[in-house]
Amino acid sequence: MTYDCAVIGAGLSGLASAIILSKNGLKTALIEKSSRTAPLVRGFKREGHYFDTGFHHAGGINEGSTGRLMLDYLGISQHLNVVSSNSNYTDMVRFRDSSFEFRFPVGIKQLKDRLEQFFPGDINFINRYINEINRQCSLLPFLNLNADIKTMNILENVHGNSLADFLSHNTDNPYLQSVLTIHSLLNGVPPGEQGLNNYAYIVGPYYESVSYIEGGGSALVAAYEKAAKENGVDIFLNREAQKLIFSSSGELKGTGFKDGAEINAKNIISTIHPSQLMNIVPENLFRPSYNKRIKTLDETPSAFILYGTSEIDLKRLIGSNLYLVPADGNNFGDFSNPIENRPINIIISNADKKENIFQCIFIMICPASINEVEQWGNSIRGKRPQGYLEFKDNICRRMLDYFVSYYPELKGKIHAVDFSTPLTLKDYSGSPFGSMYGAKHRIEQYNPFPMTSIKGLYLAGQSIVAPGLLGTLISAFLACGNILGHDYLRGALKVWNQEE
Ligand SMILES: Cc1cc2nc3c(=O)[nH]c(=O)nc-3n(C[C@H](O)[C@H](O)[C@H](O)COP(=O)(O)OP(=O)(O)OC[C@H]3O[C@@H](n4cnc5c(N)ncnc54)[C@H](O)[C@@H]3O)c2cc1C
Repeated sequence: MTYDCAVIGAGLSGLASAIILSKNGLKTALIEKSSRTAPLVRGFKREGHYFDTGFHHAGGINEGSTGRLMLDYLGISQHLNVVSSNSNYTDMVRFRDSSFEFRFPVGIKQLKDRLEQFFPGDINFINRYINEINRQCSLLPFLNLNADIKTMNILENVHGNSLADFLSHNTDNPYLQSVLTIHSLLNGVPPGEQGLNNYAYIVGPYYESVSYIEGGGSALVAAYEKAAKENGVDIFLNREAQKLIFSSSGELKGTGFKDGAEINAKNIISTIHPSQLMNIVPENLFRPSYNKRIKTLDETPSAFILYGTSEIDLKRLIGSNLYLVPADGNNFGDFSNPIENRPINIIISNADKKENIFQCIFIMICPASINEVEQWGNSIRGKRPQGYLEFKDNICRRMLDYFVSYYPELKGKIHAVDFSTPLTLKDYSGSPFGSMYGAKHRIEQYNPFPMTSIKGLYLAGQSIVAPGLLGTLISAFLACGNILGHDYLRGALKVWNQEE
């Protein structure tokens, strides 16, 4: 089988990359090792309730945003009902050691006003912070279609100040520091390792708007699949790319599978975890220093995730998205800390009432390390030993207690329906380490670029630009821009914008 392009991995970035290429006239094969596309994002049903897994909400996909423009251009949004948060707040941060809570309003101007109202002694710094977030976002070429592609300042990303340093040099207020670092949980980089610019790519669009998708991750993937089909992408499921194939003269020729079958394509976009790419390329393809760099990329944390139901209407009590901050603050990099000292994100949605009891479903995400379940690492899902099951029960109970310690009225009213550990994430996510967001985008780490030193081989995915729906979209456009031309692709988006 011969194609113009092959895309390896059919997660959100692979699907988006394949649609872009196919839409622009290149015959494209999309290759996925699982039996379905985007296994991380599909969600699951338990006890009659649908629970999301790798997608809950996203910033920067509201009407008029660049993210939405990309989804429109790809023919995805026409299959989606994107619901932008129009309540007067999106996220709430609550601290254990006091009754202090902060509700994030929708809109960056509104956020600035509310921060000034809560922290009147820090008005100058708040101004600087907001300006810096806006400035950084304006430099990212696919977030700002008019930004010069050369302005992506990789060095600034790698060598800049950490978010924690930036804040501690400018304010002594621990609550303000915590409010402005809490969204580090969204890309899995603790504030002390988080570069200000990478943080800006995450929070800039998120501060501006938060959108949900009716039907959750499952509906999102269905829309991507429809768009892929409409644009003529050929999807190959249950196909694990096991090697990249090169001609005798060293040119990239395609990819091969276990059974000896091959797909020929002179352009390949790999969206799999970069360390896994190293397992399918010839040993001497890259320079040893590049090999080492990729194989030793520091990973984002994994997680303990509790899927639960509540008899109390959490939406009314809390809202849609809650961050619980322990006395130690937001630093979630040290996993010798008990879970009670880690910040936890709780996503809340309405549920159908069942026998007039359940009002809400919720998902609690607690950062964790794969090392915490290392001793059961070789066991198989569904057949894990008793010790593991007891460990799971213990963490699950403590997470419910954790929630209750902030909201005593929930005692006896919240219930766990399912619980996953880093071993579960390892099975479902594309990361061999069970990490939530692939390789960390942190200071002092050079993540691989979309373009490699091998002609025809490009990279996309959450480890390349940023995690999340928007990060994967931008990474797909950057990778495809190397094949189709960045100016051409950004031009096509601009034209689309004017015509719509
Ligand atoms: C708990 C959790 C909650 C999240 N919540 C949100 C959220 O609310 N909003 C948001 O925007 N993002 C969220 N994310 C992040 C988001 O899910 C990811 O950033 C995104 O799905 C990553 O997509 P990807 O395509 O880069 O990688 P992946 O989804 O990992 O895709 C890689 C694909 O490659 C396949 N593959 C691997 N090796 C091979 C091979 N050799 N051959 C063929 N196929 C292969 C894998 O099976 C996988 O399907 C969340 C993530 C987690 C874990």
